[in-house]
Amino acid sequence: MTFDELGLSAPLLRAIEEKGYRQPSPIQAVAIPAVLSGRDLMAAAQTGTGKTAGFTLPILELLHAKGVAHPHRIRALVLTPTRELAAQVVESIATYGAHLPFKSTVVFGGVKPNPQIAALRRGIDILVATPGRLLDLCQQGEVKFSDLEVLVLDEADRMLDMGFIHDIRRILKLLPQQRQNLMFSATFANEIRGLAKTIMNNPLEVSVSAPNTTAERVKQWVYPVDKIRKSALLRELVVQNDWQQVLVFSRTKHGANRLSEYLEKAGVNASAIHGNKSQGARTKALSGFKSGKIRVLVATDIAARGLDIAQLPQVVNFDLPNVPEDYVHRIGRTGRAGASGRAFSLVSADEIKQLNDIEQVIQRHITREYVDGFEPDHEVPASAPLRKPRTSGQGKTAGGRGRRDDKQPGPTSRGRSTEGHNRPRQKKRTGNSTR
Ligand code: AMP
Repeated sequence: MTFDELGLSAPLLRAIEEKGYRQPSPIQAVAIPAVLSGRDLMAAAQTGTGKTAGFTLPILELLHAKGVAHPHRIRALVLTPTRELAAQVVESIATYGAHLPFKSTVVFGGVKPNPQIAALRRGIDILVATPGRLLDLCQQGEVKFSDLEVLVLDEADRMLDMGFIHDIRRILKLLPQQRQNLMFSATFANEIRGLAKTIMNNPLEVSVSAPNTTAERVKQWVYPVDKIRKSALLRELVVQNDWQQVLVFSRTKHGANRLSEYLEKAGVNASAIHGNKSQGARTKALSGFKSGKIRVLVATDIAARGLDIAQLPQVVNFDLPNVPEDYVHRIGRTGRAGASGRAFSLVSADEIKQLNDIEQVIQRHITREYVDGFEPDHEVPASAPLRKPRTSGQGKTAGGRGRRDDKQPGPTSRGRSTEGHNRPRQKKRTGNSTR
């Protein structure tokens, strides 16, 4: 399958070629024709699947094909949960739309509204926004949606997690009834389906990249360690293995700050990225990380979502997330595009419940390793046996697998890599295997 076969016209094909993509990803192969046909779409696809191009390319094509009745009036609106994701989406629109006359801009909170208002007043065709700031600007009369044709809810599950449901509903009331709706979400839990029902008109449902796909291509280890020694163990792992670029996940903002301060003091360049940081501080941390100045970027789950950092060799879970699906998102940041990545979780005895939940979701026990000098006084109990996953089998699949249940992976990942799960005292050095 090539991009030409998907019905995209020359200016877009040229931009795709310049970007260096050779063929559409599975979500693009399904989403592009669906969007071009005018259908509503509900796509279960995570970051890393190419979902952004999956909606930006056909939207640009539609706007181009229909011609411009009123240049630079908002014809497409993309809502995202975070500023980072919003910034990345608008960057993608600029890249793919490089040879088209459309203007796009982004509005999000945490920065002064005046430049955003000025951009809106100059006129734009595609608006990317986080819900809160968009609503503020709507209330100030700065945004008009009378020409809107397409609405995209990107990472809809995160928007609900972050409490944006009321803002979204208020925004929906401001949009023309007649429009095309596209919803992208990592999961389609009941709450999302509830929202979708009120928005979508006979949507095509597609699913790619089930969580088990991620879990299969990422090598994973658990390092049992006492809670108070986690920071020191992390430093040890970074230094011993000479990791130059590692994304570390922290459940809390305070924890992220404390850890990055500890690492800095211990001689490892580190920075924290989370919702309490200003946009400027986040951008600086991210660019320092990308350029190699910052070796360890400590992020909370929400801040990490949507960060466009390609192909990280490894990620570390400084603590385990309470929601097991977040673990799958976290480890999905490594080993993208077929490359195998590595994920290391520092686990203390009190996290056994989270570990059991995660192992249940990924349907495997994660190998445990011990680092000399960091063996825990409080041992992490042995993992619980795995229960059989529930499966649901309806809908169309873009990635070649049956559609996944929101919480459970497909059966293909069952029963792998159980080494060591019930031998918690097994000792291994941090040798080449983690390098
Ligand atoms: P996304 O899931 O939209 O965040 O995209 C993940 C990454 O895949 C981004 O860095 C894109 O630039 C890249 N990408 C998107 N589509 C393709 C494609 N067809 N071929 C290669 N890379 C792609």
